[in-house]
Amino acid sequence: MSLLDVTDLKVTYDTQDSKVHAVNGISFSIDEGVNYGLAGESGSGKSTAAEAILGLLPDNGNVEGGQIEFKGKDLTTLSEQERRDILWEDIAYIPQSAMDSLDPVMSTGAQIRQAIQKHRDVSKSTARDRVRELFDLVGLDPDRIDDYPHEFSGGMRQRVTIAMALALEPDLIIADEPTTGLDVIVQDKIIDKILEIQDRIDSSLLLITHEIGVIAETCDELSILYGGKVMEQGSVDNVLINPTNPYTMGLKNSFPELDEIGTDPVSIPGSPPNLDSEPTSCVFEDRCPFATEECAESHPDPVDLPNRNHNSACHNIRQAAQMREEAQDPEA
Ligand code: ATP
Ligand code: MG
Repeated sequence: MSLLDVTDLKVTYDTQDSKVHAVNGISFSIDEGVNYGLAGESGSGKSTAAEAILGLLPDNGNVEGGQIEFKGKDLTTLSEQERRDILWEDIAYIPQSAMDSLDPVMSTGAQIRQAIQKHRDVSKSTARDRVRELFDLVGLDPDRIDDYPHEFSGGMRQRVTIAMALALEPDLIIADEPTTGLDVIVQDKIIDKILEIQDRIDSSLLLITHEIGVIAETCDELSILYGGKVMEQGSVDNVLINPTNPYTMGLKNSFPELDEIGTDPVSIPGSPPNLDSEPTSCVFEDRCPFATEECAESHPDPVDLPNRNHNSACHNIRQAAQMREEAQDPEA
């Protein structure tokens, strides 16, 4: 049993004229102490997966199938109260655009203090002391706990949300694009801070981002999501250094700093799949340079690769790898 086991999770959204199949049967596990990355382009279902795990889907979102087990407990069957108890206490969440989600009319320190007092039977002054400690921990001046969100820069507001997420020393931190929208230097500092504190409180991390470079730097394992499907998953070394899935290869090409060959970034031609129905073909078929007839007939099941901790959902894994090698080195 891992800390978090997600098995065959399916999530849809009801909209006025259709059902959006945002997550189509994804599985992954996070062990204790592991930093796990969830990568993929915009719309691939990353935030939906996180919100489903946390039980925070909007009203029109439905978990249609699958299990989400945290320490062996199925989160999909918890009562609202049980879920609220787990949230913050055991699993902390730094939502996408977290820095904009702070309450503008309450001081930052009071927001964190209230979160602490909801879960711990402590006095206001003890909770305030804890907030000061947390500010210090994330690199904010403890004398500023009475300042309001608008008095901080974007990077500082993001530090406040991290302080809030860490307040109860959770076992798992789920951070959805924690650095998006911040300048590069601040991004690095925020990531370093999350890693430093996470190491100190000994928690696991689920880091969601479309920037695979950030995952390469910070995570041990990852899943690459596309069209609500896991295309490839395993250890960061296996997946990002030796990708076998055409989608991962395309994604990696768009991040040249990860590529030893040093090519210019090439975005993958075409547009993301239509999610109005459950996929009947490989979700990447339209955009895949290696697609064959089989790819039009079904989405592939993940195939375990000879390396430990590496699988890839592709009908033509071997052919794709070979064609790619030939394309890189026509003399071979
Ligand atoms: P991004 O990188 O832009 O944050 P993401 O990978 O987090 O993207 P999601 O936000 O999970 O993607 O969205 C997955 C799909 O579900 C998209 O097609 C999106 O338009 C759709 N979707 C998300 N939220 C809703 C909603 N409340 N109602 C209807 N459709 C939604
Ligand atoms: Mg998102």
